[in-house]
Amino acid sequence: MSREVRVRFAPSPTGALHIGGVRTALYNYFFAKQNGGKFILRIEDTDSQRFVEGAEDYIVESLKWCGMTIDEGVSVGGPHAPYRQSERKEIYFKYAQELIEKGWAYYAFDTPEALDALRADCEAKGDTFSYNYSVREKLQTSLSLSKEEVDRKISEENNWVVRFKMPENEIVEMTDVVRGDMSVNTSTLDDKVLFKAADRLPTYHLANIVDDKLMEISHVIRGEEWLPSLPLHYMLYKAFGWSEIQPSFSHLPLLLKPTGKGKLSKRDGDKLGFPVFPLRWVAPDGEISRGYREDGYLPESFVNMLSLLGWNPGNDQEIMSMQELIELFNLNKVGKSGSRFDIEKAKWFNAQYIKIADNETLAVNLAKTLSDKGIASTHEQIVKAVGLVKDRATFVSDLFDLSSYFFVSPENYDEKVVAKFWKAENVAFISKAKEMIVDYSNGLDKYDAEGAELLIHQWIKSNNYPMGQVMNTLRLALVGESKGPSIFEIIDVIGVEAMSSRIDSAIEKLGRD
Ligand code: GLU
Repeated sequence: MSREVRVRFAPSPTGALHIGGVRTALYNYFFAKQNGGKFILRIEDTDSQRFVEGAEDYIVESLKWCGMTIDEGVSVGGPHAPYRQSERKEIYFKYAQELIEKGWAYYAFDTPEALDALRADCEAKGDTFSYNYSVREKLQTSLSLSKEEVDRKISEENNWVVRFKMPENEIVEMTDVVRGDMSVNTSTLDDKVLFKAADRLPTYHLANIVDDKLMEISHVIRGEEWLPSLPLHYMLYKAFGWSEIQPSFSHLPLLLKPTGKGKLSKRDGDKLGFPVFPLRWVAPDGEISRGYREDGYLPESFVNMLSLLGWNPGNDQEIMSMQELIELFNLNKVGKSGSRFDIEKAKWFNAQYIKIADNETLAVNLAKTLSDKGIASTHEQIVKAVGLVKDRATFVSDLFDLSSYFFVSPENYDEKVVAKFWKAENVAFISKAKEMIVDYSNGLDKYDAEGAELLIHQWIKSNNYPMGQVMNTLRLALVGESKGPSIFEIIDVIGVEAMSSRIDSAIEKLGRD
């Protein structure tokens, strides 16, 4: 029987979630969903020094905005609750003890000062200090001290740690879905701390392995920065006797700076003017970082753009819905090399998504801006206006700038356009056109843009009036400048009454000649 697919996204709540982390979450999500498996959110908060208030809520909200549903984890619960490691505190020590009993770990009592002195000593000799097989028996550890001394220190002192006893000169053979087979000699590795008495908390390595085992994780998909930890993780599975059920590992390549050199950082975003976080983030010190959501990106576009940084379906298809991404994603096709982040591509995706977005969906965004600005409008007007301008928007926030003239009568009139078209003759034309449209509409239940257009065009043609002059003057009166879609569509959104009053007020403000 093949194993149920259970993957976890396991961020540490140390601040806002970088878009590289969002991509990791997405790949986990796609993989879980395409295999009918579970997507678990575990919060790895055992490093109390790096804990940041609000970061967990931010992570949960980011996943939600992207459209990822959490099957088990913080915020939803599940059979392996709690999913926050600080609440699982009691679980870990017995696993550290188990390793000590099996001879795979030991107590270390060195004070930070003693370790600093050792480091300084080594540096003075041009070496780097490594806490490993070569020193562990010479230092203050349960491998060098008597049992009585060890017991006394454990009960009287509170700064001891448990360290993994990395064997000397063994080869760890590892397999990674993205990188293939690798091997490392254990003599190059040090004895990592697994548990700290000071806060009675495990370190990342112990908590991560124990929880992956207890939560029955089948596949670990995480960022490349964790690759150096892989040999230790293999050794931990071996030490616990869990190698048989060890998850498969995939380490995802980095998201690179736009130059392609080095990891994409918040500083790059600040310098080049784009966000590196999905949502706006206000740090505890008050520093504000922008987010894709607040910058006017649609979540579908953000998800699509991010998903293609590290993987692609192998054809030219670029626009993919969440469902398509779930179906097409292939963990085996994730590339080894980093993907360069390109904000222009992100904008391109967003413009495409705004074009195909449902007018009702976009209307929600525009309605919010209008109500924030205290501008009155009806739902119908907003939906129509959005439909008329969305092809020219890159960001959701552009919708207001592109459509504000539908909701706000012009205050000022473009001087150049005024100079060109505002003449007595044209003013007379538009006054007449206004009356004709009013009369025509009075006879109908509802304004008819096509009918009004036909009527006015025929009137202009049959009288041999200058079409461009009339239409541009009409546009100037309604919009204040020479932009916008068809005049008759504009009237459809603003209404016949507003058309009349806008023409009247243009005449009042600009005069008749
Ligand atoms: N807590 C680690 C992080 O913040 C998780 C790494 C892993 O997935 O094993 O990225």
